[in-house]
Amino acid sequence: MRPKNKIRAIIFDVGGVLSLGRYEKKAVEGHHLLGVHNFMADKLGIDLDTWFDAIDSVYAKSIEGKINRRKTLYVMAKNLKCSVSKLEKFFLLAYKKHFKKNIELYKLAHDLIKKGYRVGILSDQWYLSKDALILQKDIRGFRPVIISCDVGLRKPNPKIYRLLLKKLRLTGERVLFIDNREWNLKPARALGIKTILFEDNEQLIKALIAKGIL
Ligand SMILES: [Mg+2]
Repeated sequence: MRPKNKIRAIIFDVGGVLSLGRYEKKAVEGHHLLGVHNFMADKLGIDLDTWFDAIDSVYAKSIEGKINRRKTLYVMAKNLKCSVSKLEKFFLLAYKKHFKKNIELYKLAHDLIKKGYRVGILSDQWYLSKDALILQKDIRGFRPVIISCDVGLRKPNPKIYRLLLKKLRLTGERVLFIDNREWNLKPARALGIKTILFEDNEQLIKALIAKGIL
């Protein structure tokens, strides 16, 4: 059955939306992933500055897919004088420890699919955060799933929103994008995409009801 409102596709951000920081009251992501970085520096027995010096340029490039997975991990491991497997293991642990799945929101997303909406993801991640935070079993039926490290673009570059519309084959007014950062919503609105600034599940549910989606 087709929903009665104009919206056909609902697109979710991951960091701070489908995946929440465990310790912070508000969502964390991007450069605010301090917990993960502190954990890594601690595990490797170095200070945070040394850690950031070692990962910084490749980490940033990898989010935008400007450097491939193998090269990213090789350079990081070399700079940190540790093995790639150790690095991978610690990173996965770090994300597990600092993030938790927003179970209620995943459930809601799957309910939206059942209601006849297309549900997708638009997220900035690098290779290991993608592995840790976006699990195939959770996103069954989601399409498109656009991750910055895979497509070579990141938010808030307008091109990634145009890519989203192209993949959806929909005009902006048919699409609703939910993100916890205003700066990621602005370029979406410029393309006519409807937006909700995510604060928490309760606020989002109210906003979806107000829009006639729930
Ligand atoms: Mg986010």
